[in-house]
Amino acid sequence: MGYTFRTKAVHAGRADLAALGVHALPLDLSTTNPLPSLAGANQSLDTMARGGHPQGSSVYARLHNPTVGRFEEALAGLEKADEAVAFSSGMAAMTACLLAAREQGDHVVAIRPLYGGTDHLLASGLLGMEVSWSSPEGVADAIRPDTALVILETPANPTLELVDVEMVVRQAKRIPVLVDSTFATPVLQRPLEHGARIVLHSATKFLGGHGDVIAGVVATDEEWAAALRRVRVVTGGILHPLAAYLLHRGLQTLPVRVEAAQRSAVEIARRLQDHPVVESVFFPGLPGSDPLGIVGRQMDGPGSIVAFAVSGGRESAARILAEVKLMTPAVSLGSTDTLIQHPAGLTHHVVDAQARDRCGISEGLLRISVGLEDVDDLWSDLSGALDAATLESAGTSRFRWVDQTV
Ligand SMILES: *Cc1c(COP(=O)(O)O)cnc(C)c1O
Repeated sequence: MGYTFRTKAVHAGRADLAALGVHALPLDLSTTNPLPSLAGANQSLDTMARGGHPQGSSVYARLHNPTVGRFEEALAGLEKADEAVAFSSGMAAMTACLLAAREQGDHVVAIRPLYGGTDHLLASGLLGMEVSWSSPEGVADAIRPDTALVILETPANPTLELVDVEMVVRQAKRIPVLVDSTFATPVLQRPLEHGARIVLHSATKFLGGHGDVIAGVVATDEEWAAALRRVRVVTGGILHPLAAYLLHRGLQTLPVRVEAAQRSAVEIARRLQDHPVVESVFFPGLPGSDPLGIVGRQMDGPGSIVAFAVSGGRESAARILAEVKLMTPAVSLGSTDTLIQHPAGLTHHVVDAQARDRCGISEGLLRISVGLEDVDDLWSDLSGALDAATLESAGTSRFRWVDQTV
C-alpha cells in the first residue's frame, strides 16, 4: 500500500474482510479446526512445524489462528517488515528471539540499560546464552565468532537514553541486530529502515494502549519469522485471539494516541525542569538531551515517557507516589491514563545494583508514562505531589512520616 502511516494504521490487516462479508474484525476462538482430508491436514501441519504458514486448515490454534494472523499482518505493514510474529507477552517474544538465535551461536551482545525483565533473563543464563554487556560504541569489540544476536533498546527503559541504531548495525556487520522499540512504537521509529533485522515490542504497552492486554510481537524478515514460528509452535507462547483482536482494534488509534500523549509529555518535561525538588529530567525532547541528534533522524518525536530524579532519594520519591491522585502509581506504560513508578524499587529492582547506578537508575528516579488526560490536570496533580516532597526534603513538615517506601 502506498498510503501514509495514519491511513495504514486504520486499514492494515483487513484485506480479507470484504470477501468474508464483514466490516469489523472477526474474532475466531476455535482451538481446533475440522480436518476433512487427512493428507491435506498432514501437509499443513508439516509446513507449520517448519515455520511456514498453513495451507488450508490451521489444524490447531497453537500453530496458527486467523485473528492473530491479521494482527501480525497489520503490524508488519506498520513496521515495513516482511512479516510479524505475535506472542503471549513481550518476554515470551524476547525468549523466542533468544531461542531462535541459538541456531547460530550461544553468545549475545546486549547494550544496557534494558527493560528489567530482559536484563534479568539475559543475566540469569536460563536460556543457555552467554551475555557480553556493551556500550553502543563497544559493540564491535564485544562480538565473537559465536555471537548470534545484538540486543538494544531505544529509547531505553527507564532513562530514555537513545541509541543510534545505524551506528550499532555498522559494528555488528553480519550479526542480526534486535531493537526493542516498545517506547517508540512504529509511529515514532521504524528500526528496520535503519538496518536492524528484528524489531520487538511489548505490545502490552502502547500497541494495546488501554491497559488490558499482555502481548508481544516481533517484526522481521521471512527467514527470521519462520525461525520464530518454529520456536513458537514447540514452546507454545502464542498470542490469544481475543488479545490479538484488541491489539488490532487499538492499532487504528495508535498514531492519534501517541501524538497526543507526546504533546503533553513535552509540556510536563518542560515544567518539571523548573520545579525545585527536581534534580534532573530525562526526556529526549528537551534541549541538550539528544546529543547525537537522533530525534528527527531516527525518531519522529521524543515519545511520552518522562523520567526525573528528585532530591531526597527514595523517601522523597515514595512521598510523591503516595501523594498523586490522578496519576496511578503503577508499573507498565503506554496506556490511555497516566502511570508513575519508581524504577529502582520496581521495574529495575532485579537489575544488578552497580549496573543500576551506572545507568543512572537512582533511588530518587521516577518514571511517568504520560496519558491522554488534560495536561493542566496532570500538572496540578504532579506539582502538588512535588510540593509536598519539597517541604519534606527541606525538613519543614510538621510530621514525621513513618515508612513510606514502596
Ligand atoms: C514491558 C516491557 C517488556 C516486557 O513485555 P511484557 O509484555 O511485560 O512481557 C519488554 N521491553 C520493554 C521495553 C518493556 O517496557
